Formats: sequence, structure tokens, C-alpha cells
Amino acid sequence: MATQYTTCPGCATQNAGINARCTNCGTILPISPMPMQHVPNYSGAKPAGAEKKLAAGLCGILLGGLGIHKFILGYTQEGIILISVYLVSFIIAMVTCGIGTPLIFVPTVIGIVEGIIYLTKTDEEFVQTYIVNKKPWF
Ligand SMILES: [Zn+2]
Repeated sequence: MATQYTTCPGCATQNAGINARCTNCGTILPISPMPMQHVPNYSGAKPAGAEKKLAAGLCGILLGGLGIHKFILGYTQEGIILISVYLVSFIIAMVTCGIGTPLIFVPTVIGIVEGIIYLTKTDEEFVQTYIVNKKPWF
């Protein structure tokens, strides 16, 4: 059994645990702490895929029309659709001299709504819905 040492609060001298007073300055030593109990850490066990929730949610809200949040979730097809709609809307807006501008907001709003939905789900719901079941939209 390894000898336990107690650090003196007065002079920081290491004292063998059995001493009641510091061998250097005579300060009464605190009771030796018990060896650390191993406590199982359940809080660290997030379901696989939950770490994508924040990134996908924020990208949906901030960059919705570009479909980045879809690519983060592995939805390549849906991501391409979103960015295609975004680019086509952009072209239409330019060709129509601005009349078609509201179309640009369609993929943007889809991204914002999806990002908010992601962030409001629990980790378990998020993983079940988007990682396990691969729900493509919303
Ligand atoms: Zn001391």
C-alpha cells in the first residue's frame, strides 16, 4: 500500500498521512482525503450522430439556402436540390430584374426552419429522426 501524503496548508510541506501535525511548522493537517472513487460517467454517452445537431442547425439557420446543413447530415441529394433551387432563384431574380427575388428566400427559409427544428429536438430525437431514419426534409 502506497504511503499517502497530506500537503500542509501552512507551508506546503508534504507530510506522511498518519501525522496529525505538520512536521515542518506544526500546523494541524486536514484529514487525508479518501482515494477517489470511480464514478461511472453516464453524461458523456451521447448517441452517435448527436454531435452533428448543433453544426447542422446553425448552418441551416445561417446558410440555409446553400444546403450545407444537408451535406453535414449526409443528405447529398437534398443538399444539391437546395443549392440548385438557390442558384436558379438567383438567376431568375437577375433575369427578371429583381421581380423574382422573393424566390431566393424559399430555400433560405427552408434552411432556417429546418435548422430550428434540428436545434429544438433532443439528441435522441435528432439521431432517431435524421441519422437512423434519414428523414429527408424537415
Ligand atoms: Zn507546515
